[in-house]
Amino acid sequence: MADKRDYYEVLGLQKGASDNDIKKAFRKMAMKYHPDKNPGDKEAEEKFKEINEAYAVLSDPEKKEKYDRFGHAGVDPNSGFGGGGAGGFGGFGGFEDIFDMFGGAFSGFGGGGRNRRNNGPRKGNDLQKAVTITFEEAAFGTKKEIRLNKYVKCKTCGGSGAAPGTSKKSCPKCGGTGEVRTAQRTPLGTFQSVSPCPDCNGTGEINETPCKDCGGSGKTRDSVTISVNIPAGVDNDSVIPIKGQGEPGVNGGPDGDLYIVINVEPHKMFERRGQDLWLEIPITFDQAALGDDIVVPTLEGKVSYKVPSGTQPGTVFRLKGKGIKSVRSNRKGDLYVKVNLEVPTKLNSKQKKAISAMAEKVTGDCYQKKSSFLDSLKEFFS
Ligand code: ZN
Repeated sequence: MADKRDYYEVLGLQKGASDNDIKKAFRKMAMKYHPDKNPGDKEAEEKFKEINEAYAVLSDPEKKEKYDRFGHAGVDPNSGFGGGGAGGFGGFGGFEDIFDMFGGAFSGFGGGGRNRRNNGPRKGNDLQKAVTITFEEAAFGTKKEIRLNKYVKCKTCGGSGAAPGTSKKSCPKCGGTGEVRTAQRTPLGTFQSVSPCPDCNGTGEINETPCKDCGGSGKTRDSVTISVNIPAGVDNDSVIPIKGQGEPGVNGGPDGDLYIVINVEPHKMFERRGQDLWLEIPITFDQAALGDDIVVPTLEGKVSYKVPSGTQPGTVFRLKGKGIKSVRSNRKGDLYVKVNLEVPTKLNSKQKKAISAMAEKVTGDCYQKKSSFLDSLKEFFS
């Protein structure tokens, strides 16, 4: 073969071109020199091969790095096209595939992995479990026993999937690599394609004596009880991760994780806003007018609170530190108490008389807002 041209030059690019530029240039050039468009044109055919070879290297991050550093010597000249193994170009069966991908799957090109062996260690599936707790449990923390129905490592075979006393054999067809290579002859030369070994499904292993209890999968379904510490301060949709309590890992990979999602039951009296609590307490006219000690419930028990004389309806009092502890620190929220003035609805004649008597004594100028409103009213109609 004559001296190879620089791969960037082949695609009409400068060294250091971006992945996107490389992809675009390849697409343009491949369209132009495709043999279908240039029947019988030997030169176009050669060009087309050259373009593909350049792209096979420049679209593969590993090969591209080597090529950028060492030039053609960095990448095996014979493996540039077709011998790409798991990544790069090797995943495509032939020219049909190249043009299929123009149909829409173009962005997936060059990512490799299509024929990646699937016998490597993989993390087990993560699991999610919702847990409902009471308002108080959320505020103070609790310990919960959680029952889960999930896959666990098969106890009989220890997760290997092979019957006890036996082990999986290396697949003879692929020699344990999990992939097979086939050569395809085309008018443009011979291309190699790599695909998962059909005998072992790409695992590289054959299970001749599968474990009877798990059918060779290495895992069985089981009901498991897990003790979970729920910290004080959690709220609705808080998530507690528990490492390694998901499903078992595959091929020696780590076990998945379990995520506990908290659901808090509402409280009859308190409304939670972050770490603060809100509470409404009805008071009577005499309590509001004269002031009174009222009983305020908190999550830690009853406390007494002095409502001052002249308290207006809807006034909010703050009880510092009577809220909920932060899940991350020791800071505590506050308790806000809103007093609602309640007007009596069921009165007998004696009670009505008592109120009338009061009204005669407690006249307009005892009321600040009302007297200023009456002044405005007079002014308005004068
Ligand atoms: Zn088993």
